[in-house]
Amino acid sequence: MRKYGGLGTLGPMIDAVKIPMSMLPEDGRFGCGPSKIRHKQVKALTEAGYNLLGTSHRQAPVKHVVASIREGLADYFSIPEGWQVALGNGGASAFWEMACASLISRRAAFGVYGSFSGKFAASAAKAPFLEEPVVYKAEYGSCAIPQYTDDVDAYCWAQNETSTGVMAPVQRVPGSVEQGALTLIDATSGAGGLPIDISQTDAYYFSPQKVFGSDGGLWFAILSPDAVKRAEDVEKSAELEGARRWVPPFLSLTQALANSRKDQTLNTPAIGTLVLMDEQVRWLNEHGGLNWAQARCAKSANILYTWAEKSDYAAPFVTDASLRSNVVVTIDLDDSIKASAVVSALRDNGIVDTSGYRKLGRNQLRIGVFPSVKPSDVEALTYCIDYVVEHLQ
Ligand SMILES: *Cc1c(COP(=O)(O)O)cnc(C)c1O
Repeated sequence: MRKYGGLGTLGPMIDAVKIPMSMLPEDGRFGCGPSKIRHKQVKALTEAGYNLLGTSHRQAPVKHVVASIREGLADYFSIPEGWQVALGNGGASAFWEMACASLISRRAAFGVYGSFSGKFAASAAKAPFLEEPVVYKAEYGSCAIPQYTDDVDAYCWAQNETSTGVMAPVQRVPGSVEQGALTLIDATSGAGGLPIDISQTDAYYFSPQKVFGSDGGLWFAILSPDAVKRAEDVEKSAELEGARRWVPPFLSLTQALANSRKDQTLNTPAIGTLVLMDEQVRWLNEHGGLNWAQARCAKSANILYTWAEKSDYAAPFVTDASLRSNVVVTIDLDDSIKASAVVSALRDNGIVDTSGYRKLGRNQLRIGVFPSVKPSDVEALTYCIDYVVEHLQ
């Protein structure tokens, strides 16, 4: 196939790689968020969800959808007695600010090993009413779980560092319960695709546009009784005379929780996102829940890592195999092959969003293998990459 160098330009004709139709995956979406949304979910918008779009989120029909999501997530994650599912607007990024405003009392310890885990720590460092955080750092491609630290009241890290494709264990830091510290886990690209014991966390929070293949804009958080109590205490202390702390209503976890308990959100949510999410949570639960999803992601990831290890031009970026993510797979390419050229050739053939995280700046592919992505499509992708690399040269 021949095509022009750019839209609207009369640039030179370039040879594009045309992958044979028979090799292509059924679905070419491999992004890490927004990620593939299944056809059935989109259909739900025009079927079950049709009468909901454009109606009040404070009325029973939309509240039923929120209730169904909250119950579905409670089942999916087998949440312990007393833990609750909360939600609100603004995605995981908003939850970081919320945690700074209403969950960290004074000082937190962070594990930082990539862009996302770094952003939460940076927010805490800037909050004028919090003390300087204690940061445990690791090189990108590895991970650092915070260690026991005197005088902190929260431990924070990411279960899956989406910028590097590292998955980290989630287990309370020994001694943290005794010192009264909370465990706050950013599970945005891990929740739903990686194993988890919720009792090891106080806030397990995520956005729905990654593993749950919904749209962006919301955050969900599974909160322990201790987290709820902490938010109440912190917000009360902010109201004392002379308090330096400010908890804006939008960042108040107690208000978010009060609304969530009524199957609502503090302010207007995207109803389409709720419909897509509800459909996906049902689909996951019907197919065997977290065990099923986690095995499916592991299978897809394994296809890619095995292919890369056998390849003479590709290799898994994460060297410690136990840290290699089962949901976000990062593959380094040999310097003789430009990843950007591979990514754009794939895109020309309808295979999209395979580029590495931009700020990581490596010659890398990054592939989201969330539950919606079929392992057979992941396999097809490996053939397509080989084909492109062979024909680029
Ligand atoms: C995508 C992502 C976020 C940010 O999510 P938003 O919905 O864009 O706020 C935070 N943490 C991790 C680990 C992510 O992958």
